[in-house]
Amino acid sequence: MNKTGVLTVVSGFSGSGKGTIMKELLKKYPEQYALSISATTRSPRPGEIDGREYFFRTDEQFEQLIAEDGLLEYARYCDHYYGTPKDYVKEQLAKGKDVILEIEIQGALKIKQKYPDTVLLFVTPPSFEALKDRLIGRGTETLEVICDRLCRACEESKGCEAYDYLIINDHLDDCVKQVHEILQNEHARMSRNDEFLNKFRVELEAYRKENNK
Ligand code: 5GP
Repeated sequence: MNKTGVLTVVSGFSGSGKGTIMKELLKKYPEQYALSISATTRSPRPGEIDGREYFFRTDEQFEQLIAEDGLLEYARYCDHYYGTPKDYVKEQLAKGKDVILEIEIQGALKIKQKYPDTVLLFVTPPSFEALKDRLIGRGTETLEVICDRLCRACEESKGCEAYDYLIINDHLDDCVKQVHEILQNEHARMSRNDEFLNKFRVELEAYRKENNK
């Protein structure tokens, strides 16, 4: 089976619970997955630490990263920059880890265009009501920010057909299991196993020739 990790993008409406699913996935299978840490120009929320949730950067620092070609992709979201540092993702994929990018839709589509074998997962809560309740219940954003995020969700809902899988986040454990199964099955995809198949073919061909058939 293929040794290179699967590049995976997880998106979902703000408040969909995608972050919680990914945290659980990493807790359960720390050897299998690596989570990319993005850079952003938004301010840290209470409890967030630089280098853990995000690399918090100024606009100038972020623009420097763009100029140095240090990002795999970047996008603007609700008036801030967000982007994926390139080196960590490449290192982890080469080590065979499945790397997860938790990013919004514009970034996801850019990644899919550059790396077509990326798996795109889209997470939603079970209903609009549940989405609104989760955003309000989180208590970390003002009503104005919540309204911005719901309006952004409206736009995102129109683009999510480009994703490969829809994950409805009703029960956390079920979602984690579903995501793990999808990603493990990806390793068996024909197109990811060229090296293995080619070696097999060469050996079969050598055998055939030896036997003059
Ligand atoms: P939040 O401010 O709630 O942490 O994130 C806002 C949005 O930005 C979320 O949809 C999140 O997935 C997305 N995001 C986080 N990091 C990145 C990134 O590196 N690139 C892109 N394109 N979006 C990101």
